Amino acid sequence: MASQIDLHCHTTASDGALAPEALVDRAVDRNIKILAITDHDTMVGYRQVKDYANERGLRLIPGIELSSQWRGMGIHVVGLGMDPTHPIIVEAERSQTDVRRERAKTIALRLEKKLQKKIDFSAVEALAGGEIGRPHFAQYLVENGMVSDRQTAFKKYLGAGKVGDVKSGWPDMETVVKWIVESGGQAVLAHPHHYNLTRTKLLDCIAAFQYAGGQAMEICCGLMDKNQSGQLKKIAQDEGLLGSCGSDFHGPNKFGLDLGVMPPFPEPADLGHVLSAIQA
Ligand code: AMP
Ligand code: MN
Ligand code: MN
Ligand code: MN
Repeated sequence: MASQIDLHCHTTASDGALAPEALVDRAVDRNIKILAITDHDTMVGYRQVKDYANERGLRLIPGIELSSQWRGMGIHVVGLGMDPTHPIIVEAERSQTDVRRERAKTIALRLEKKLQKKIDFSAVEALAGGEIGRPHFAQYLVENGMVSDRQTAFKKYLGAGKVGDVKSGWPDMETVVKWIVESGGQAVLAHPHHYNLTRTKLLDCIAAFQYAGGQAMEICCGLMDKNQSGQLKKIAQDEGLLGSCGSDFHGPNKFGLDLGVMPPFPEPADLGHVLSAIQA
């Protein structure tokens, strides 16, 4: 049974494949009742379909996924329930967009040097449409025959530790947490299992996240098994965090990942849900 709540997914405003309207339609078709669009570093998609979602009977929570760094590692923080007109979040989006654009130029230069081939930056920008990121470079490399597929592009050039993994421009995790909280939202540590952290380091990261004001962490994510989810639930309980759930859907694909596909959320008595702290 798919979940009727999905608080993490992407549209064409960042690196998702579906336009915001099509994403809302898919959510309604899949019997999702509560959705948060959490595009990378922008709420443009959310603003575009806020009224449309309402017309279709879908509760759409204001959302964003902010890029940051902690101890030199790229960390994603989801924000839910911010006032989308709050000057702090509006300014955060503007500065993150600037960082993304400058970073993309650096990625292009680094790839050119590594591959000894011209990268047409405006073509990559055209592929992106909205917020430009590594997936658009992956697509460009595939379309121009420089790699066979997107996975190879990440494995060889764009994944963690490779030449195209540029994260130095991102603000500290603590800063993005504050942006979310100060604009009235709940800060959620995104997909904690993706960072390949030891348990000790993950707990250090969570401590810094909470000290900055972070309130929740994702414990049910797409393609995660029940065991992983159970371990994260235990950590959330021990550390006094609320739990959140989201597929991280980026578009129809072959892995069975879709809106609402994730392990079930624990019983309310076991763990508080981040939704309980959101009015919008
Ligand atoms: P960026 O926002 O530019 O740092 O790009 C990060 C995005 O790239 C993530 O949100 C994923 O959508 C995608 N991504 C990261 N790692 C991989 C990977 N190994 N394979 C495919 N996509 C990836
Ligand atoms: Mn993404
Ligand atoms: Mn992410
Ligand atoms: Mn995401």
